[in-house]
Amino acid sequence: MTSEDDLPECCGSGCTNCVLDRKTKFRKLPSSRTSILDGGAYKPFLCTNISQCSFNTFRFRFQHQPSLVESTDAAGNELHISPGSHLMLRAPRDWRQTNRPTNELFMPWRAQSMEKARVQNGGIGAKKSAEKYDQSERDLYFSRPYTPIRVDSNACEFEVLIRLEVCGEMSEYLQTLHAGDVMEWKGTYTGFLWERNARKSLLCFAQGVGLAPIYSILAAILDDEEDETRLKLVYCCRDIEGILMRDELLKMGAFWNFEAAVYLSRKVCSCDGKTTRRCSCLSSKIKYSERIFNHRLEKIDIENLLHRSGQQDSVQVLICGTECFTKLVENCLTRLNVRNVYKF
Ligand SMILES: Cc1cc2nc3c(=O)[nH]c(=O)nc-3n(C[C@H](O)[C@H](O)[C@H](O)COP(=O)(O)OP(=O)(O)OC[C@H]3O[C@@H](n4cnc5c(N)ncnc54)[C@H](O)[C@@H]3O)c2cc1C
Repeated sequence: MTSEDDLPECCGSGCTNCVLDRKTKFRKLPSSRTSILDGGAYKPFLCTNISQCSFNTFRFRFQHQPSLVESTDAAGNELHISPGSHLMLRAPRDWRQTNRPTNELFMPWRAQSMEKARVQNGGIGAKKSAEKYDQSERDLYFSRPYTPIRVDSNACEFEVLIRLEVCGEMSEYLQTLHAGDVMEWKGTYTGFLWERNARKSLLCFAQGVGLAPIYSILAAILDDEEDETRLKLVYCCRDIEGILMRDELLKMGAFWNFEAAVYLSRKVCSCDGKTTRRCSCLSSKIKYSERIFNHRLEKIDIENLLHRSGQQDSVQVLICGTECFTKLVENCLTRLNVRNVYKF
């Protein structure tokens, strides 16, 4: 029997996982080998790559770096992170005192965000105290949750998409991160667990970096040859340059059971698209088989999608985005009597 002490510490972020009974949320994955993150302690991970995905969003790859004490024990281990789960990243509170150099990759974003901060808040660094997500932790660190988009269990590697926030404490710290640096992660925190063919269709609404948990779930279902669920992704971004994982989504489009529609909220063109919902400037930027609409997602779009998705009971809906976005989708679903809804 599992005792309370054996359970990993609460992530303290107020997420579904913390609010609900977390005993049912931490599930061992089907493997005879143990996962590196079992036990709920922070573990060292080497940052092996950083790349830019959009102006403010970057993709970081991490690989487990066994410590000297761990190395023999960790030899036969794998890294299990179930799709849609998040991890906790921590960094030292006093990092500003160590003069860490900024990574060149972040310079263009940094220049613009500093300007924004100057206008809005009186300058970067205006926020003195870093909020703590992981309340169980000593005051030497601050921590933030992030959701892996891709996991390589055997290589003990995972990737996260991180949208940098102006004046955000972790966002500031991450700009000093270089490939070769070590950071500490713990987890995993699982809120939603998909079971193979649990429903006929899965309809996902994602906004911006809210794509992370949804992408990892969709990718896992497509990887599973025995899962025949029909998958629909409705993805909302500001503009075409802000579409995250665009190439990966295009590849997913080759599967018979996957389709995606992207809605852009910021209209920058001057053609008639502004009034007609169709835009000729956009068509030149759209790749083969992409469905991109030059307008915000509206209630009518959600209603049409649900009517096409068949019986309400056979549909599972996932939502991940800002509060305002989630509310818009949720209100429509409630009106249409859709009950199987999970919000990240
Ligand atoms: C379960 C879960 C999973 C998540 N997964 C991801 C993920 O995969 N990818 C991702 O990018 N994010 C994810 N997040 C969000 C992430 O954890 C952080 O909240 C985010 O990166 C911001 O952290 P920060 O330390 O940079 O900002 P914080 O320091 O926490 O600041 C929060 C906000 O306050 C604003 N702020 C800070 N200082 C000031 C100031 N002086 N004046 C005005 N405004 C200010 C910042 O701009 C920011 O918008 C997730 C969150 C949760 C709960």
